Amino acid sequence: MTAAFRERVVDLDAVSANVARLRELVGTPHAMVVVKADAYGHGAVECARAALAGGADWLGVAEIPEALALREAGITAPILAWLHDPDEDFAAAVQADVDLGLSSLAQLEAAALAGGSGRPVFVQLKVETGLSRNGIPESEWDAVFARARELEERGRVVVRGIFSHLSNASVEDDRAAVAVYERALERAAAAGLAPELRHIAASAAALTLPEARFDLVRIGIAAYGLSPFGRESAAELGLRPAMTLRGRIAAVRRVPAGKGVSYDYTYRTERETTLVLVPLGYAEGIPRHASNRGPVSIGGRTFRISGRVAMDQFVVDVGDLDVQVGDEVVLFGDPGTGAPGADDWAEAADTINYEIVTRLGGRLKRSYIGGVR
Ligand SMILES: *Cc1c(COP(=O)(O)O)cnc(C)c1O
Repeated sequence: MTAAFRERVVDLDAVSANVARLRELVGTPHAMVVVKADAYGHGAVECARAALAGGADWLGVAEIPEALALREAGITAPILAWLHDPDEDFAAAVQADVDLGLSSLAQLEAAALAGGSGRPVFVQLKVETGLSRNGIPESEWDAVFARARELEERGRVVVRGIFSHLSNASVEDDRAAVAVYERALERAAAAGLAPELRHIAASAAALTLPEARFDLVRIGIAAYGLSPFGRESAAELGLRPAMTLRGRIAAVRRVPAGKGVSYDYTYRTERETTLVLVPLGYAEGIPRHASNRGPVSIGGRTFRISGRVAMDQFVVDVGDLDVQVGDEVVLFGDPGTGAPGADDWAEAADTINYEIVTRLGGRLKRSYIGGVR
């Protein structure tokens, strides 16, 4: 397949295979694949289908609008959404059969009201265990659990799950958070709640902290074939990166030694050389922080960006490589093929692989290979 001018190619079979592999590694009764933020830039609807084909039985998103978009695309699998606009319309979520992840008594009351008559609202209560984000704090557990039980008895809600999220600060910190979580489960049981789904592990803990697995793991980054621990380990775990970011050379120029390159001339040629222009810039989410550092593969060889990443483009000094306008440039893909990985870009931009894939956008096309579409 000829590369487009600039595009992300997402291998949906890789997503399915990664999910199947993770199910095998983790062994929990249930596995949720997290497709928030457009599946970390990989395409939410397509990746949700690929994840389900690979054996996921739940989908996770941050916001209700993300869940509704999956429903509109015809996806009927269970979905949990856990981060809400204070004015969010819970009724739309309830009608679409989306489980509500709730972090406060106020949200619980709003959820119960959103149900109308007849059917209970399925909720999953999120408890704070250390991350200091949006779980119910320990001081409010008893009040929220008691009210939730009362609403259950009236047929208004079903507390399907109790969950939390880990910091990954250290194994000790995560173990301590799991202990807090277990205390929350005990208090919930004392209030008469019997949640069917207990979950706290995302990719990292799912892979390395068996005591955090409970009934379900929430897998995000690993489903896309990237490791939560950075480079190397994804391949060791049997995971394959699903995304390839590539473009085509837009211009080629032969220049003498001492030529300044791109804004501010932060790069100068050392000898007579060939410069190529790559039509991806920070408008597409290429980090300007990776100026003079980000790797690219051209003609089977890896080079670094030369000079600043601009809004629409960057330049690469390829020495005496024989290149033509239209040749393919791979920014990252599966390191198993010799291309740089998203982890190399993360290192070049002082960030994490999550941000590298998720931040892409702008004028980038996205195309898919594999999958059942
Ligand atoms: C994003 C997110 C996940 C997925 O995390 P990964 O590290 O990508 O596996 C799981 N749970 C919650 C609550 C999240 O916000």
